Amino acid sequence: MSLDLFVKVAVDVPGLAPLSYKVPNGEEPVVGMRCVVPVGRREMVGMIVEVSQHCEYDPSKVKPYRQLLSEVSPVNDEWLAMTRFAAEYYQHGWGEVAMANLPSFFRAKPRPQYLKSLERLRESKRVKVSVKPDTPPVLNDEQQEAVKAVVDHKGFGPFVLHGVTGSGKTEVYLHIMAEVLSRNPNAQILFLVPEINLTPQLQGRILRRFADRVVVSLHSGLSAGERARSWLAMHECRAQILVGTRMAVFANIPHLDLIIVDEEHDLSYKAGDGIRYSARDLAVKRAHLAKIPIVLGSATPSIESWAKVQSGTYRVLTLRERAIKTAVMPTLELVDPRVDKTHKGLCSRVIKAVEQALSRKEQVIVFLNRRGYAPVLTCPSCGWLSTCPHCSTYSVYHKSNGRLICHHCGWSAPVMHHCPDCGNADLAPVGAGTQRLEETLSQLWPEARILRIDRDTTQRKDSAQKAFDAVHAGEVDILVGTQMVAKGHDFQRVSTVIVLNVDSQLASANPRSQERAFANLMQVSGRAGRAGLSAKILVQTRFGDRPIFDALARQSYEMFADALLKERRNEGAVPFVSQALLMADAPHINQSLEFLQHAAHLGERIAETMPEREIVVFDPIPMALMRVADKERAQLLIEAPSKASLNVFLRQWYRALLEVKTNVHWVVEVDPMDV
Ligand code: ADP
Ligand code: ZN
Ligand code: ZN
Repeated sequence: MSLDLFVKVAVDVPGLAPLSYKVPNGEEPVVGMRCVVPVGRREMVGMIVEVSQHCEYDPSKVKPYRQLLSEVSPVNDEWLAMTRFAAEYYQHGWGEVAMANLPSFFRAKPRPQYLKSLERLRESKRVKVSVKPDTPPVLNDEQQEAVKAVVDHKGFGPFVLHGVTGSGKTEVYLHIMAEVLSRNPNAQILFLVPEINLTPQLQGRILRRFADRVVVSLHSGLSAGERARSWLAMHECRAQILVGTRMAVFANIPHLDLIIVDEEHDLSYKAGDGIRYSARDLAVKRAHLAKIPIVLGSATPSIESWAKVQSGTYRVLTLRERAIKTAVMPTLELVDPRVDKTHKGLCSRVIKAVEQALSRKEQVIVFLNRRGYAPVLTCPSCGWLSTCPHCSTYSVYHKSNGRLICHHCGWSAPVMHHCPDCGNADLAPVGAGTQRLEETLSQLWPEARILRIDRDTTQRKDSAQKAFDAVHAGEVDILVGTQMVAKGHDFQRVSTVIVLNVDSQLASANPRSQERAFANLMQVSGRAGRAGLSAKILVQTRFGDRPIFDALARQSYEMFADALLKERRNEGAVPFVSQALLMADAPHINQSLEFLQHAAHLGERIAETMPEREIVVFDPIPMALMRVADKERAQLLIEAPSKASLNVFLRQWYRALLEVKTNVHWVVEVDPMDV
């Protein structure tokens, strides 16, 4: 008599623990393989997370799985441990994390052509891009020290590589990678970047430096087939380097030897929907599980990482100098629009600075973090405003296509010629977005070659790259755009950078907005003075007396971060406490608030059972932007002294919430960024 064998399979169903199935006679499933299983009336692909001879249920009632997908080798233990951790930490089912983050090819039920498709994914149809291998520069002392610290480290080692833009961080990454690959020919490397479309230069550098290696990428710009191909190439160790956005943190990488997280402070590492994970935090966890070094690089590290540097948990490696000797630190000028006369929103000193740069044939960048023509359209006669019919916000006037567009829900309509309320024919744009700014600049300097870069001009594939190439080729005199322009570009002839409208960020009530404003300003100012041109940053602001500008003038992240952390510690704010947010949305705000009120009661009861009674359950409140896409949203904040106690609380609370019968849609976010 043969012994019965059982498996536990993690499937992508909210909150569900792995399900038990019987193994059909003669089959040999392995933990980490996928199989097709019946779930209710459906069939799903799940991940085998346990194989055993025991089953906690009546064996005669346990169904067999339908099909073992053994043509792909099992994922490794580190991957399973990481997804399990993520599920527990972010309050989801293991299968939700494990399956939802596989490329769709591995998640979907096999089609008739499955095996053939699999073979095709394996064919290395790599287009041989003619990459000219480059010669690495000789590192300066600081860079060498940084490389040595990482490559000589044994086991788990979290490093923060801190240096201003242009200080040579990327060069340090590349040298560490080369060293890791030369010491272990089988080594694999995970290189995370915030937004791949904005970092073509970086990708190019990696490809040129590792021309003899297989480099693959994973990001949302790839087709499903391309994603599956990259995933499989890492999984089967045919590729050594994976460059990808946050989704790449879920790749299975059997010989993972090094993780690099570039621009580790960037908000795009945080997933905004689904499992709201932080790819940076999960990357650190992976490095811990795999017992390898991880390098978190940034000119303005996240306040969380900096707190860990201060507490000695992370080791900081600092690059103080700009790598290219001719590069200079920019000087900062603050211009107050209440004092200095403005013309179409530009102070006269700003106009003069642009003029000077243009006359010297230098390039100018003008930043405005607001796309569209004008943030709102108004009727001067009756006061009508262009509100979005579905959101508690305005729809933005886009002149180029003559439409009003809501940037929150996507609603759009042709702009009306008459006021819908009073019939007045003179509707007026209020304030300026990048389109209007572009118009103003071309009126002021009709001869100048002006290029705008924002999400509206870069929707087509490669359009961002083409635009950036034009700037590099010197075909552009004034570059105007959103923060998109600041990301990782190495423009050579920029001498003058103008920053407009930081004030909305500086005035914001969100405690995170100071960090973001500082990171943006530092990044923006890093665009100037790369090739020895004396560099000038002009910030048009009413808040010139804020300490943030002293730190900026000195280009001192430490000064900013140390002050901020001191303040946060005194206030008992993040990162010195841990938070979670329960968010609810429903057609009417009262429904959302009612549900949260109930959730708060449940939370209070659980909090009372915990030692020290250290969990704080706040009152439910409507969100700042209450209505989006006809859903009215409210939130409930939970605060705990540590991640551990927060997790103990959340586990019980989440289970209680799943029991609540409600039509209200809700989601829990751990470590929220917007509270
Ligand atoms: P970051 O990533 O900090 O912005 P990069 O690594 O891109 O800095 O370096 C900025 C510029 O300096 C790049 O053009 C790079 O090739 C160059 N560079 C970096 N390190 C050196 C070095 N040791 N010697 C010469 N040039 C260097
Ligand atoms: Zn009107
Ligand atoms: Zn809307």
